[in-house]
Amino acid sequence: MYARMLSLRFPPSAVNEPIVASLIRKFDLNCNILKATIYPRKEGMVVMELSGHKKNFQKGIRYLKSIGVKVESIGQDIRRNEDKCFQCGACTAVCPTGALFVKRPSMEVIFAGDKCSACEMCVAACPAKAMEVRFDRSILD
Ligand code: SF4
Ligand code: SF4
Repeated sequence: MYARMLSLRFPPSAVNEPIVASLIRKFDLNCNILKATIYPRKEGMVVMELSGHKKNFQKGIRYLKSIGVKVESIGQDIRRNEDKCFQCGACTAVCPTGALFVKRPSMEVIFAGDKCSACEMCVAACPAKAMEVRFDRSILD
């Protein structure tokens, strides 16, 4: 699963396109819309989390660009709340990049942020909700 928080800016010509339906039906993607400001025959802006298989994600982005939508990724990163983490290790089983791993022989669970792809698999897996998503919400205001 690949996921990114995106801002989409629509030119007037694309405002009436069934974009979300196309992303879901043609490219098998999931869209979680956080904010939508669209005026008929004027520019529009949508902030959404788009997720799915990476190849489909890339096809969906190409489709958006082909109809004139300006796509930007909203800065997003994953942090570990050290106060909440109790070193259970559950997150290491789901992390696809090796950013979360058990260091031996100390058996300490390490979070290497530079290897993190922000896929959010650990966010759902952590029983303590110690893995937190942070992104620039200023664009939502
Ligand atoms: S978001 Fe979590 S599971 Fe995904 S790469 Fe980063 S640390 Fe690993
Ligand atoms: S699953 Fe959560 S509590 Fe357990 S080691 Fe990972 S971050 Fe810490």
